[in-house]
Amino acid sequence: MIADKMKPFVKNNSAIRMMFEEGNKLRAKYGPENVFDFSLGNPSVPAPDCVREAIIDLVNNVEPTVIHGYMSNAGFEDVRQTIAESLNKRFGTAFAAKNLIMTVGAASGLNVILKTILNPGDEVVVFAPYFLEYGSYVRNYDGVLVEVTPDTATFQPNLAEFKEKITPKTKAVIVNTPHNPTGVVYSEETIKELASILEEKQQELGTVIYLISDEPYRELAYDGVEVPYLTKYYANTVVGYSYSKSLSLPGERIGYIVIPDEADGSEELIQAATIANRISGAVNAPSLMQKVIAKCIDAQTDIAAYDKNRQALYNGLKELGFECIKPQGAFYLFVKSPVPDEKEFVNAGKEFNILMVPGSSFACPGYVRLAYCVAYETIINSLPQFKKLAERYFG
Ligand code: PLP
Repeated sequence: MIADKMKPFVKNNSAIRMMFEEGNKLRAKYGPENVFDFSLGNPSVPAPDCVREAIIDLVNNVEPTVIHGYMSNAGFEDVRQTIAESLNKRFGTAFAAKNLIMTVGAASGLNVILKTILNPGDEVVVFAPYFLEYGSYVRNYDGVLVEVTPDTATFQPNLAEFKEKITPKTKAVIVNTPHNPTGVVYSEETIKELASILEEKQQELGTVIYLISDEPYRELAYDGVEVPYLTKYYANTVVGYSYSKSLSLPGERIGYIVIPDEADGSEELIQAATIANRISGAVNAPSLMQKVIAKCIDAQTDIAAYDKNRQALYNGLKELGFECIKPQGAFYLFVKSPVPDEKEFVNAGKEFNILMVPGSSFACPGYVRLAYCVAYETIINSLPQFKKLAERYFG
């Protein structure tokens, strides 16, 4: 018998994952080259060479009891120091090693933050569309997810509604920029406005509201667009970062959280989050990967490859008559379904071996997400199939 609390999680098991399984069946039937699977955000660009070289070097030259051993639950001090210095150089922040806790990717980092701050019944505000796992993470700690409806004209956060949704129970707000599933980067103007609403509400309600910045796509921004560093705009910001996409290491499960000194109750938060990291069952982030990150601190993914895909898919779909805003970051395209029920459109896509994720998997029905972290050929070869799909709707 499973626990009652697990039952809704099982019932709502990830549609994206199910789509991936479906893709495997189609690949077995038609051959992988004839299936256009845009369902999963699994980086198509390999990890930079530095990663392989660092692994080999570390395994050959560092004492096994160090490289494979336990360390402080927050992670290796030297690794945290290296990352802090890199952030300070890039963003003009003033972090020290103690402000960082190494985590098992962003998913675990978000769980650590929420475990650290949520009491049962506390509200966490999110902007639709959003990564649906946020709901599960918040429910893990008996929090309540509060959704703000999307502004489908821009997919920037709907700040007028946001203001209305903040209550005395609001403990945190999660933002994700560059954004999954729209590829939107929140502008500095948006961030400033968001920060000023939060300041105002904290004053008015006499509460502390943490801004959680979920940043797995920070490095994936195109056309030279700036991705503002949120701790500089709002003191009660906590950052959750991941190397899953930035260094193409999603299976290695490595990331970190940042709790700046300026955040309310910073010292207590850092101490509690370190313990949350341990008692969540992660204990500490993978040791070898921590050391790899420190060695590859300046390594970058091949953003040009994603950009090439972005242009080809965006231009190709627009030419066929599909509606979509041009993404500035991440590796997703959020396309308006030609029919109100986007699941019908997703099913029609499958007839042409095109796999897309329904927008309802991101609390935004009427749209579909295409993950363009695939081979360039997949995009080029998919366009004739999309043409057939478009003909069904646009004639
Ligand atoms: N947050 C968002 C918005 C994501 O899209 C993902 C993964 O796709 C995650 C968090 C989790 O990332 P990680 O692999 O670092 O746990």
